Amino acid sequence: MSPDYSDITVERFDGIVRISHDRPEARNAESQRLLEELDDAVRRAGEDDSVRVVIVGAKGDHFSAGHDLKEAQRSRADFTVEQRWDYEISHYFDYALRLWDLPKPVIAQVQGACIAGGFMVANLCDMIVASDDAFFADPVLHSLGTAAVEILVHPWVMGLRQAKDMLFTGRRVPAQEALAMGMVNRVVSRAELESATLELAEQIARAPAFALRLTKRSLNRSFDMQGFRTALQAHFDTHQLSHGSEEFRRARDTGLSGAIQKGSETGKAT
Ligand code: ZN
Repeated sequence: MSPDYSDITVERFDGIVRISHDRPEARNAESQRLLEELDDAVRRAGEDDSVRVVIVGAKGDHFSAGHDLKEAQRSRADFTVEQRWDYEISHYFDYALRLWDLPKPVIAQVQGACIAGGFMVANLCDMIVASDDAFFADPVLHSLGTAAVEILVHPWVMGLRQAKDMLFTGRRVPAQEALAMGMVNRVVSRAELESATLELAEQIARAPAFALRLTKRSLNRSFDMQGFRTALQAHFDTHQLSHGSEEFRRARDTGLSGAIQKGSETGKAT
């Protein structure tokens, strides 16, 4: 039995659970509640032996516009270094790593905007299926004056030069380009996104569960042996340093409210 969630939706199929961001009116901005619910649902799926594969998706036109900046402005603008570190290590870092460490495959199902915090969540999943209207971006260096998002997964999933291109410019990477980079596994039409992702999940779910678990463990460990986890932890602290900068303070006091306003006026993900 799933608890009553308000910001996500959980759907069950044979051997598969689909957990969807469900705040389409806010372009699925990841509020604190959404992240806590997502983590709760992911934990439950991890512990449930009847679940072989997890899909992390989204209802509406966009996967996610990123962390809920309006909420951040309201409730976390005056956080001390200590408070911000605590909040971000649990809600951003540990929650996303839980997807990576889940003892079963997790597939991100991505349409529309997949930005900043949303980019982080999708890329900590094991595979990504995107619709042809999907695009990926991490513009926070430009928009907020922070050193990327909290988890610097970028060079690991797209290569160093592409990561530099995307982060230095803040530009959007369309689904087809993400496919060519190797960041995305499959690109399908928007109409086929759900069925294609489910089909992939069903195919994976037919594998023997224990061997599948060991395979994921081994693949992830091959990244750990190259320093994946240590590099992510180091960047997390660097990211926190950038939150203490004058550039961030200026962006927070002026740019952030401007960015929020601009986003709501155009209805476009920023
Ligand atoms: Zn941060």
